[in-house]
Amino acid sequence: MSAEQPNLASSIDNLTPGDSGALIVQWTRVRKRLLTEVGEVEYRTWLRQMSLAGVDGEEVTVWLPTRFLRDWVRSHYGDRLSLIWQSENPCVRRVDIRVGGPAATVGRHGPAIDGQAFAEGLAPSETGPTASEQAIGELASNGAMPALVKSDDRGERGPDSRSPDARGPESAGLDGRFTFDSFVVGKPNEFAYACARRVAEHPASQGFNPLFLYGGVGLGKTHLMHAIAWELTNQGGAGHGGPPATVAYMSAEKFMYRFIAAIRSHSTMEFKEQHRSVDVLMIDDLQFLIGKEATQEEFFHTFNALVDSGKQIVVSADKSPSDLSGLEERVRTRLAYGMVADLHATTFELRISILEAKASRAKTSVPGKVLEFLAHKITSNVRELEGAFNRLVAHANLFNRNITLESTQEVLHDILRAHDRRVTIEEIQRRVSEHYNIRLTDMSSARRARAVARPRQVAMYLAKQLTSRSLPEIGRKFGNRDHTTVIHAVQRITELMEREASFGEDVEMLRRMLES
Ligand code: ADP
Ligand code: MG
Repeated sequence: MSAEQPNLASSIDNLTPGDSGALIVQWTRVRKRLLTEVGEVEYRTWLRQMSLAGVDGEEVTVWLPTRFLRDWVRSHYGDRLSLIWQSENPCVRRVDIRVGGPAATVGRHGPAIDGQAFAEGLAPSETGPTASEQAIGELASNGAMPALVKSDDRGERGPDSRSPDARGPESAGLDGRFTFDSFVVGKPNEFAYACARRVAEHPASQGFNPLFLYGGVGLGKTHLMHAIAWELTNQGGAGHGGPPATVAYMSAEKFMYRFIAAIRSHSTMEFKEQHRSVDVLMIDDLQFLIGKEATQEEFFHTFNALVDSGKQIVVSADKSPSDLSGLEERVRTRLAYGMVADLHATTFELRISILEAKASRAKTSVPGKVLEFLAHKITSNVRELEGAFNRLVAHANLFNRNITLESTQEVLHDILRAHDRRVTIEEIQRRVSEHYNIRLTDMSSARRARAVARPRQVAMYLAKQLTSRSLPEIGRKFGNRDHTTVIHAVQRITELMEREASFGEDVEMLRRMLES
């Protein structure tokens, strides 16, 4: 970077006055548009210190004074910046964001760590560390800086174009697909669902405040929170026909960054007012605040202020309050005070219901066998299950092909491998021979007596069902048999299972044993 910097620094001066003038006009317009898009607080916090370094052919270079700001702007505003530039000047293809410019800290302070560089931009205080400084320190000590930059959090983005008409700025960022209607209820989530419904209908009612939803990743926490928010903002007045409630939904991460941005722009009072004036506050993925003491403290006060004035709080986390070690004791106690509801791992039945609901909405027909196959194979969480399903449908539409079990295995080849239960063919052979009391070597022997041939077929059938090995691969493991022998075995066993209930149960039991 150092070799290029002087070049760029001078390039703006090398432009003809006309060019330079046009560029500066464009730059002013770009910044104005950004300001309108992101709002003043955000602009002041992250973007105000940008300066134009120069233009080199199709590439514009913008400077920011610290590495932290550069990374932040790159990941959060980089694409927007390029798009806006392009629309102002179609010749511009890329915007490069670098550390440099009049206020750059690199060079003056050597390779300062990002967070420090950021903290240096703050007004220094003469006394000991204040809560604000501590919060900034939390930002600096956040070893997982890339995690800030990842933006898979739907709440992180601005207004969602897919969202139904959202009332009030705070409901921006809700995903319009996440409603109660689209949430499939089953044993593992019925309690959490019922609690969420209840809160949406009667917010802040006794015993349900706060509502604490917890469970593993991809099990529907965010979905339920958005559903509550939709219900409250669109139904109006908690179902009583009054004015719609003000709902603020955000990830704990966003809460922290807003808080820090407020400190940075000396607007903590506004921050407090803003967050304490809502009817319902929802904080998603609270585990993010572990170790962030100043932000926890702020959250705690916000929490108390809201609950004391009869407002509803909804919080989600990946663990129960008592298991969230690293969260302050008083915060945990407060959280466990209302209703704690967990989302359990999905069952086969729930996975099937979710897939059926999706299939009925998709325009492509998906055979029941394929849904069952997916529900058997992808057990980790709903997000992955949905991902696999969407890919399957997209593929079928793109190539105008019907979805079959074979095409599913082909299209989802990589996902299925990753989700392989790691049952090996050897293990299947061992279990099956034990079960039927034959020798393990008979799995690959040439003996064709029914007493060994049938168990061998069962093992081939299970190998096909439980592993992602191809037919020839399976054949090879059974004494170098041909893949047609495997096909025959699978067909034979399928038929027999349908015809003889006790045989079917036997094979199912073997399957369950191997799967567990
Ligand atoms: P979490 O916040 O718990 O990590 P999400 O709420 O983001 O999980 O859910 C992941 C995906 O799975 C979302 O697309 C969501 O709509 C979907 N999903 C989860 N549970 C259900 C359910 N019971 N019915 C329908 N979709 C669900
Ligand atoms: Mg979530």
